[in-house]
Amino acid sequence: MPDATTPLPCPKCHGAMQALDGYGDAVVHRCRGCEGMWFEIMAHEDLREHAERIDLNAPKAPAADTLRDPSAPADAPLLCPACTHYPLIHMVDPHQPHIRFESCKFCYGRFYDAGEFRDYVDDSEYDTAFDRLFKAVAGKRMG
Ligand SMILES: [Zn+2]
Ligand SMILES: [Zn+2]
Repeated sequence: MPDATTPLPCPKCHGAMQALDGYGDAVVHRCRGCEGMWFEIMAHEDLREHAERIDLNAPKAPAADTLRDPSAPADAPLLCPACTHYPLIHMVDPHQPHIRFESCKFCYGRFYDAGEFRDYVDDSEYDTAFDRLFKAVAGKRMG
């Protein structure tokens, strides 16, 4: 793995992602280009209370409630910035299915687009009709 002083390549725009200082063991990198964020394993949980400082962008309203198969092939494969050659998998937040982030199944890092991390932390925002439908279906499956 690259050391902390080497900027990671942004999986989305290939800009340089710089590690943010001051969060102890929780490691997060932010892209200078698109301002997306890369969280190392579990850092997205540890850094919830810092979302306003880490994520420079306000959450964007989802464009529309469009059902999209999350297992569908991506338009272009995104590669894990830490593992460098493993493709990231597209994930849907189970509590807010309009949030689609990317995750690496090898290092468990996660990439959130600009604005998505704040949205993730504030789970009251933009709870869309799609989210409610998804929860209803998931609830039925569980029992
Ligand atoms: Zn970027
Ligand atoms: Zn990885």
